[in-house]
Amino acid sequence: MSNTIKPLIAGNWKMNGLRASLDQIRDVVQAISGSKTPDCDVLICPPVTLLAEAGVLSANSRLATGGQNCHVAQKGAHTGDISATMLADCGATFVIVGHSERRSDHGETDGLVRAKARAALDAGLTPIICVGENQAERMDALAITVVEHQLDGSLPELNKGEEIVIAYEPVWAIGTGEVAASSDIVRMHSSIRDWLLKKRGLRGETTRILYGGSMKPGNAGEILALPDVNGGLIGGASLKADDFVAIINAA
Ligand code: PEP
Repeated sequence: MSNTIKPLIAGNWKMNGLRASLDQIRDVVQAISGSKTPDCDVLICPPVTLLAEAGVLSANSRLATGGQNCHVAQKGAHTGDISATMLADCGATFVIVGHSERRSDHGETDGLVRAKARAALDAGLTPIICVGENQAERMDALAITVVEHQLDGSLPELNKGEEIVIAYEPVWAIGTGEVAASSDIVRMHSSIRDWLLKKRGLRGETTRILYGGSMKPGNAGEILALPDVNGGLIGGASLKADDFVAIINAA
C-alpha cells in the first residue's frame, strides 16, 4: 500500500534566501508546469520573510509553500514568533515542526513539537514532523528506539480528515554530505510504518514518510525508490532550482 502513496518532494531553505532568491521559486514553478513532470507533490519552505511573495508566485501552480516553524498559539503576546494561522494567511499549506536544528538550537522537546503540530492542524496546515537519531545514538544501536520515542512524544492525536507527514532525518546526515545506507533507511522507514500501523490503524498505511539528510540529484533516485520512502525533505540541494528540479525528476 505504501508504495502507492504520491511522493512529496519538500525543500527546506532554512535561514537562507534574500528577495533575489525568489527567482529560484519562479524557475521551479516554471519547470514543474509541464506535463512531463513526475506525479509527485512539490513544496518549498522558504524563510518566513519570503513566504508571502512565494505564495503569490506559486499561486495556481503545482508548487505548494510552507513554513519552517510555528508557535503553539495562533496569536498573542509572543514577540518575534509566527503563528500557524499567519503562515496559512501567506498561502502556506504545510509547516515543518521539530526539525533537529530547532530541537538543538532552541531546546524544543517532543511535547512542544506535538503542541506545534496540533496548532498547525488547527490552522488547516499539514505538519511535517521531523524525527531522527544523532551519531552517538546510531553508534549505540539506539536509532530505532530513539525515533519511536520521538514519535510517541511528538505526534498529536488526529481528528477525522487531518493529515500529518513524518520526516526521518538522521541528524548526522543533515548538511554533512553523509547519507544513511539504503539498508538503514529501509529498516527505519519500515519500523516507522509499523509504528504508525500499530498506533493509528489503517490511517497509518497512507501517512507519508520522507527521508532527509544530504539528498542530492546524484542519490535521490536510489533513495526515493526504496520501500516506504514517500518523498524527501531536502535542505542544501533545494536552494538552487536546477538541483531541486533534478530531484523532483528523480521521484
Ligand atoms: C534538512 O534541512 O532537513 C536537510 C535534510 O538538509 P540537507 O539536505 O542539507 O542535509
